[in-house]
Amino acid sequence: MSNDDLKSLVRTIPDYPHAGILFRDITTLLLDGPGFASCISRMAASLAARPDIVAGIEARGFIFGAALARELGVGLVLLRKKNKLPGRVTGVNYALEYGTDRIEMHADAVQPGQRVTLVDDLIATGGTALAGVELLRGAGALVTEAAFAIDLHDLGGAERLKAAGVEPRSLIAFDGA
Ligand code: AMP
Repeated sequence: MSNDDLKSLVRTIPDYPHAGILFRDITTLLLDGPGFASCISRMAASLAARPDIVAGIEARGFIFGAALARELGVGLVLLRKKNKLPGRVTGVNYALEYGTDRIEMHADAVQPGQRVTLVDDLIATGGTALAGVELLRGAGALVTEAAFAIDLHDLGGAERLKAAGVEPRSLIAFDGA
């Protein structure tokens, strides 16, 4: 199925947050009720299997993750930036273009053997998603699929996920540069 209708709802903002970056802004997609609803039902349909639970990555992954969890009738685990969660956490550090970042989840959020689908708005280099996979697998979760609205396909994130044993599902492809 062509998702050009959804692609046309994503706004491109040049030179944000840095010169040379084409920022793919999903806020315009969210503003369109039928478009957002259709995006979520197509993300659900792209999955090979219904997971036990969905994991959303802060912050835009919460939006798509929550809606997808609702669509699938499953729960949602939040993968948050460091020091945001109140309970006991487990975390993973990962490299950014400059420096490092850390994502955390509640240590008791996921049970060993649970099938978890990771969700974010967009995959670029795949660093964020791979950190999420490492975090979930560290808790014993089975992660074999990850869902994104957008893939910046020439940045290689989807291939990195596949190499890690996670099938990337995405609706819209953009050039990364
Ligand atoms: P990466 O870890 O390189 O796959 O980057 C993915 C994360 O960065 C996602 O959470 C995206 O929301 C964000 N991101 C990276 N590049 C862009 C871009 N060009 N436009 C919008 N968001 C982006």
